[in-house]
Amino acid sequence: MSFTIQNVLIAVEGGYETADVQVADNCISALAKPSKRIAPNNSSSGNQGSETVIDGTNKLLLPGFVNAHTHSSEMWQRGIIPPLPLELWIAELYDFTPLDPEKVYLSALGTAVETLLSGGTTVVDHLVLIPGQELETIAAAVRAYQEIGIRAFIGPLIQDESLTAGMPAGENAIEHGAYIRSTQATLDLMESAIKQFHNPELGVNILLAPTGIQLCSDALFEGCIDLSDRENICRHAHLLETRAQKQLAQQKYGCSAVKHLQEIGYLSSKTSLAHCVWLDDSDIAIMAETKSTVVHNPLSNLRLGSGIAPILKYRQAGVNVSFGCDGAASNDSQDLLEAIKIGSILHNITDLDYRHWITPRQSVEMASLGGAKGLNVADEIGSLTVGKKADFVLYDLTSLSLLPRTDPIGLLILGRPTNAVDSVWVNGKRIVADGKVKTIDVDNLRQQLFEHSEWNSKRQSQTVSEIETHYRKVMNLQGYS
Ligand SMILES: [Zn+2]
Repeated sequence: MSFTIQNVLIAVEGGYETADVQVADNCISALAKPSKRIAPNNSSSGNQGSETVIDGTNKLLLPGFVNAHTHSSEMWQRGIIPPLPLELWIAELYDFTPLDPEKVYLSALGTAVETLLSGGTTVVDHLVLIPGQELETIAAAVRAYQEIGIRAFIGPLIQDESLTAGMPAGENAIEHGAYIRSTQATLDLMESAIKQFHNPELGVNILLAPTGIQLCSDALFEGCIDLSDRENICRHAHLLETRAQKQLAQQKYGCSAVKHLQEIGYLSSKTSLAHCVWLDDSDIAIMAETKSTVVHNPLSNLRLGSGIAPILKYRQAGVNVSFGCDGAASNDSQDLLEAIKIGSILHNITDLDYRHWITPRQSVEMASLGGAKGLNVADEIGSLTVGKKADFVLYDLTSLSLLPRTDPIGLLILGRPTNAVDSVWVNGKRIVADGKVKTIDVDNLRQQLFEHSEWNSKRQSQTVSEIETHYRKVMNLQGYS
């Protein structure tokens, strides 16, 4: 597939230039000074000779962003879980998690559509598995991402301890039931998932993604390290999302979670870790030393009251940082531009020195190149560089939300862009054009999401009522009930 986007604005050091961006064999083949002008009828796409030409006039081309941490099937529960901290929120989430691969397929499509229309070309889906139908769950997500054409990294969410183990014990430890699957069976499942689905050439990648120290044994982490090394697969996990997890790590290991993960060898340049809210300065130094990536999920951290991740400290220490939406039940959307905006300006209140604050151009680099680095694919995607894959997004600078004309990237990151995405290409294939997804029928998707759900504001989680008293007690919340 070869084409040229003519006369398009691209960001260069200190400003913008107009360029002709040429693509051949799915990769960027040239960024040239505009040579010829589009015919005066100026249609948004047309043919000149045999090569497709796209008019980029008054449009901005940026590398695609990475939605570097989400859980697609949470879409079924967006907007419904009351304000609760993670440990109780997750109990409610699990009580009502979808158990039908068809629903997993639909919510993966929904997640992809929202990611694409907010500037993303890659999604990291930390995928909740349906017990007993684990490979079917992964197959459903793979089918969705292949159909729509987004680049996907699917990290089947695995654990080997039961949910209540994720809370600090306090004085009155509660009994934890055995987890539904043994550690070895889970590792075997991951090996099958890699064999069956890992296919970077087709844009589908598997990640090894234990949910986190709160629900995983060392044996599970070590098994994942072994598989990751043998199969050259990236690693992912949640890390110190809440104060309770920091407490739990001390109780479980007698040291910080970061120190422990370093000791067992989980941290590396191909490891990305979601949240990283409760790290101290020595943990941050370990993250830098091991070249691990932090995935910042600001909306989820606010929604669940988890805290504000020390993102400016990570940046000063040289830790790579990218952005994620997190699952739609803790956000409750998949708007990547919204996550990038909040995740950038939120930190201005954490440091008086405004020279440390994140600029809109830095936000763009974190969301694109930072995301690519965290997945060990920075030599293939993440910037508009000749030789890299054509994963990029064309923004319409005449959209009302991007007017009047000032600084295009400032408008995009600090503003509230609506209908700003004109086109999206992944691996050289145009999957969004004129603001519409072309690869799937979005109207049909809307209808399916509608028909598979119902208005509901009164549901009750049995598990939350069982564990709430214990949680309030260990977290020193008055009254305990
Ligand atoms: Zn998550």
